Amino acid sequence: MHIVIAQMSHETNTFSPVITDLARFSRRERPLSGDVAKDIFRGTATCMGGYLKVAEEAGADISIPVAAGAPPSGPVENDAYEYMVGKIVEAAAGPCDAIMLDLHGAMVTKSFEDGEGELLRRIREVNPDVPMAVALDMHANIFPAIVDNATIVCGYHTYPHIDMDSTAERAGRILMAHLAGDTKPTMAWGNAPMLPHVMRQGTDDYPNSALQERAKELEAEGVLSVSLFTGFPHADISEAGLSVIVATDDDPARAAEIRDELLDAAWEDRQKFVYEIEPLEESVARAKALPASDDGPVLLLDHYDNTASGGTMDTTEVLAEIIRQGLEDVAVFGFFDPVAVDACVAAGVGNEVSVSLGGKLPMPALAEQSSPLELTGRVKLISDGNFPATVAMSRGMTIGMGTTAVLSVGSIDIAIVSRHVEPFDPGCFRSLGIEPTARRYLMLKSRIHYRVGFRDIASTIVECAGRGVCTSDYSQVTFENVRRPIFPLDGVNTRERLPD
Ligand SMILES: [Zn+2]
Repeated sequence: MHIVIAQMSHETNTFSPVITDLARFSRRERPLSGDVAKDIFRGTATCMGGYLKVAEEAGADISIPVAAGAPPSGPVENDAYEYMVGKIVEAAAGPCDAIMLDLHGAMVTKSFEDGEGELLRRIREVNPDVPMAVALDMHANIFPAIVDNATIVCGYHTYPHIDMDSTAERAGRILMAHLAGDTKPTMAWGNAPMLPHVMRQGTDDYPNSALQERAKELEAEGVLSVSLFTGFPHADISEAGLSVIVATDDDPARAAEIRDELLDAAWEDRQKFVYEIEPLEESVARAKALPASDDGPVLLLDHYDNTASGGTMDTTEVLAEIIRQGLEDVAVFGFFDPVAVDACVAAGVGNEVSVSLGGKLPMPALAEQSSPLELTGRVKLISDGNFPATVAMSRGMTIGMGTTAVLSVGSIDIAIVSRHVEPFDPGCFRSLGIEPTARRYLMLKSRIHYRVGFRDIASTIVECAGRGVCTSDYSQVTFENVRRPIFPLDGVNTRERLPD
C-alpha cells in the first residue's frame, strides 16, 4: 500500500501586508519533502506527526511530495501555490492508494479564495477515486469544494491548538478503516452567518468550550468525526466564518441533524463571541496599578498584532504606551525588524545603539497606521534564534526566530527577531537569556496561543488593544467580499442563510 502524505498549510490574513512567497514556507531553499520531512515530523505533536504514526503503523510505503507550512500572512503568491499544488497533484497521479493532507482551511491565494478546495479539485482531476483524508485548523473557512472532494475532513477541538497530532490521527484512522471496507464516511456541512472574534474563540472560554465538548462527546458516542470551525474573520472572502462538518458511518440524516444542532447552538450564543474592547490607555494603567505578585508576571497581550493570525509583529502602540506610563521590569516578545537586528549586530553586544523600531510595514488595509519607535538602548545579546519547542503545541519541532537581538532600554528587554514567531513557548525568552518568571511584566504579541506556555506562569492577564491587522475592531478594516448580511457586521438576528 502506498500512501501520499503532504502538508500545505497557511492561514491567510487578507488584510496583512506581509508577502507570502515560497521562501516563507521553508527555512531552506525549498519546502521540505521525502525522508528529510519524515525524519523531522515523526513523533512530533503536529498533523504530519499524526499522519506518519498511522501510516507507519499500517506498514505503508509513504511518500511526502511536499511539507510546507508558513506563518500567517497575506495572500499566497501564485508561483508558491502552484509549486506546492504541483508537487501534490504529481504524487496523486502516481502510485497512490490513499492521500493524507495536512491543510489549514483558511488559505487564500492571489487567484483563489479557497486555496485548499482548489487543491482537492485538481487532485480529483488526476485521481477521481482515491480515498483522501484532510485535517484542518479550527480557524478554517469552509468552502463546498473541500467537503465535496475529500473522503473525510477532521478539525481541531482545541484553541490553543494542542490536538493537531490527534486530529490528523483521527482523520488517518477513519481513512484506513474506509480502505479496509469497515466504514463509509458520509459528511454533512453548513455554516452560520457569523464572524466570531478570535479573542472569544479560545476553548477555555464559553461558548466554544461547550461547543467543542459537545463535539467530543458525540465522537465518544461513535460518530466518526464532529468538527466545529470557529473560522478566521481576518479574511475578506465569501465563506469566512463559523461552520460545521460532521461525518457519520453511512448515516447522512444523522450527520445533518448533528450539524444543525451545533450550528444552532453557536448561533444562539453569537453575542458571546463578540469581544468587548478596552481602550489601550486604561489597560496599561490597570496593569501598572497591580501590586507586585509572587505568583508570576503580569502578561500584557498586544493582541491586535499577533503573528499567528497574520500580524506584522511590528506595530508599536502597546510598547509606546508601556514606556509612556513608565512600567518597569518588562520583557517584550517581540518585534519583527531585521533592519533593527542588523543595527544591533553592527553595534555589538554590550554597546549602545539607537534604533527606529517597528512601524516599517505599511498596512494599506487598516484605517490607522503604526509608526516607528525611536529607542536608544544597549545590545544585551545576539542569537541565531533557534530553540526546541517544549510545550504541547509543536513539541519536538525546532522554532526558528531568525537572527535575534535583545535590546535593553532601561529595565525593558525587547526581543527583536528576523522571522515571524508567535510567543507560545517560554523558550522564546529563555533561549535569549531572559527568565520570564523573574519579570514583573511580559509583553506578548499574542492573543490565545500564549495560554499554552505562559498562562500558568502568569499572575494576571491584561489584554491591550493596540493596532494591527488582527484587530478586534472590525470598523478598522473594510469587508467587501464576505457574504452579507453577517453578524456582527450587520444587525442580523435571524439566521436567514440556513445550510443547504
Ligand atoms: Zn488556528
